Order: sequence, then C-alpha cells, then structure tokens
Amino acid sequence: RIDLNLNIRGLKKSATLAINEQSAALSAQGRQVYRLGFGQSPFPVPEPVVERLRQHAHEKDYLPVKGLQALREAIAGFYQRRQGITRTAEDVLIGPGSKELLFILQLAYYGDLVIPTPSWVSYSPQAIILGRRVNWVKTHQENDWRLTPEELEQLCAQDPERPRIVILNYPANPTGATYTTERLKKLAEVARRYKVILLSDEIYGELHHSGQHVSIARYYPEGTIISSGLSKWCGAGGWRLGMFVFPEELRWLLDAMAIVASETFTSTSAPIQYAAVEAFKPHPDIEQYLGDAQRILRAVGRHFHNRLTAMRVFAPKPQGGFYLFPNFAFYEGVLKQRGVTNSGQLCERLLEETGVALLPSYDFGRPSEELTARLSYVDFDGARALEAAREGYRGR
Ligand code: PLP
Repeated sequence: RIDLNLNIRGLKKSATLAINEQSAALSAQGRQVYRLGFGQSPFPVPEPVVERLRQHAHEKDYLPVKGLQALREAIAGFYQRRQGITRTAEDVLIGPGSKELLFILQLAYYGDLVIPTPSWVSYSPQAIILGRRVNWVKTHQENDWRLTPEELEQLCAQDPERPRIVILNYPANPTGATYTTERLKKLAEVARRYKVILLSDEIYGELHHSGQHVSIARYYPEGTIISSGLSKWCGAGGWRLGMFVFPEELRWLLDAMAIVASETFTSTSAPIQYAAVEAFKPHPDIEQYLGDAQRILRAVGRHFHNRLTAMRVFAPKPQGGFYLFPNFAFYEGVLKQRGVTNSGQLCERLLEETGVALLPSYDFGRPSEELTARLSYVDFDGARALEAAREGYRGR
C-alpha cells in the first residue's frame, strides 16, 4: 500500500517467526518439539513481589510520568548496593519495558545507533522504523563475539563528531558472553574520547553465572545509561516494566524522554510499579531466589555447552543469561551436500529432522551464510527447579 510508512516496508519478515510457526505446526501434529528458541525466563516471579502486586491491585490512578518515587528510590538504592554506583531517584526513568524506553530514547535523541552484531533482534528494527542510521559492527568468534575497543575506535574515527548511541549488551543476547573489567575500561576510554552515549543493556546483569556483574557505568559514568528491568531476572517479561538509569550529566536527555513519554504511554502500570518496589529493595527471599536461579542456569548452560563442544559445535562458554550461540561451521561440507547453506535453512532442517527449535543468527544481524544460531536453554520447569534447589538445602 502506498500509504504505509516507507520505513516499515523496509523491514523484512523475521526468520524467527517462520521457525515459531513451524514449531507450532509440528506440535499440533503431535511431534515432540524442543523449544530452544524462546527468550523467556523459566522461573516464576518471586513470591514477595507477587504478594505486593496483590496488595496494590486496586491502584487505579496515573502515576508520575517518570515513575513512582518510591520505585525510583529503590532502584537507586539497588545500584548503590549491588554495583557501588551512586545515583538518586532523579536519575531513574521507568517505562513499560526497556524496549519501549529504547524506542523513545531514539525519538528524543538524534544519533546513529551503533549495534555490535550478533545482537538482540529489536535494536535495529526500532532504528529503521524511526528512519535512523544504523552503524553495524561485526564482531568475531575469536573474541567470543564481543566488541573490541579497536572495533569501536575504528567506527567512531570514521566521523568523529557524529552523535552516536553505542549499544553494549552483556551478559549478551544471543551469545551468553560477558566482558572483563579490563575490556570494559578500554571500551570506556574510547567512548569518552568520542563522547558517545553508551547504552549499557544490562537486562541479564543479575543472571550472571559466577562472580559479580560490573556495569560499564563505573568507568564511563558521565556518558552511560544503564538499561534494565524486571523481565529477565524477575521472570516478569509480561508485566512490562523497564528502567533507564542516567548520570546527572545526561539529565537533559531523561527530561526530553519524559516529554515523549507523557505524550505516548503516559506512565507505566501503577500496580506493577508498586510491586516492583519489592523487587529492588534488599530482601533475603529474593536474594535466595536469585542465587538459586543463577546456580541452575550455570549448571544447565554448562551441560549444553559441554554437549555441543563434544559434537564440535563451538560456542562461547555461557557466562550469564540463558543463551548459547553455537557455530555449526564444522559441518559445513555435510550441510552443503544436503542443501543447507544459510542459518535460516539450518534452523528449519534442524526443527524438521530433530524437533530442536533454534533461532537463525540472520535475525541477530549476522550474514545469512554464517551457520550460527541462538540456543536458549530454558525449556524446563523453573518452579520445579527452584523447589528442588530448596529441597537440596533442606536435605543437607
Ligand atoms: N534487551 C535485551 C538484550 C533483551 O533480550 C530483551 C528481551 O528479550 C530486552 C532488552 C527487552 O526487555 P523488556 O522486556 O524490558 O522490554
């Protein structure tokens, strides 16, 4: 249709949708399907948070555009406690999902979006819908698909004055890889030199598998916005609550986004915001839940990684979140003989012949002929796994 927004016409149909449709069709035929394509947490929302939601179900009024004051305070406290990052409630913006906040960031700020690939599927379509320029940076397997300071430098140096939003996502979707503090410091140096806005997507930050998640905001405080929410570590993707945490230097941008918010979504659901206060406050039950979730994900991730490695399907060691990014290049010859030459065909054939549903890396910004895919290892009953972990402690 000629009256359709031209930018939307530019969006291709996602290969992921085709896999999801094919999975549903196979399930309907009674075939066993291993759903290793989805990106939802397997764990239930922690009980104290659900209880808070029950208590606030009657809240019906609009809340302030920037978010409930008590929630913004709790989030500032959370970053102080867990990351040693000092922020106040005034630095926090709440939205109905971090995805929505990223969209309104691009409505408020006119800069190119720098996306290291492989990357989460929604970054680039958002930029394309808005008619923004995307600068792709192709990362490499030998670096575990992580952005290097040299790659960032090379891109920025091409046009040093251009305003840019650089996305850094770790633990990463789709690779499960994270960054060392040394690497974060070096990336921060480059970001500072070119005065880019760094959008640090830390939505899987609380689901690191060992050690402590470190935000790059520690090393480039004046230019980093931390993006996170309830969706992954609290298992509450459908509740739709995300937040951006700004430095004082970028308060003007927070205020600009709040204007866009006031004219679009108005504010985030009131009962959900009240419930979220509980999630960000110090709480022994939630600490226990998180510790168990991390241990379960680490064990399952390692198991999958070991099995894949034994089959010569290589992927970075899982370090956080719940994804692996296997590369089937070892089988390139055999696959070619069978007519499989790209990641879309690879995933279709895997599903058809083995019932295993993975997502093609093409949708994560990789060249279609690369034989990589995203595997999500959370097709298990998370409530039962948590229960078993608790039984384990009682049995000791
Ligand atoms: N960022 C990444 C890397 C994700 O994987 C997702 C969800 O899949 C999001 C952001 C969106 O999260 P939200 O539910 O807060 O919109």
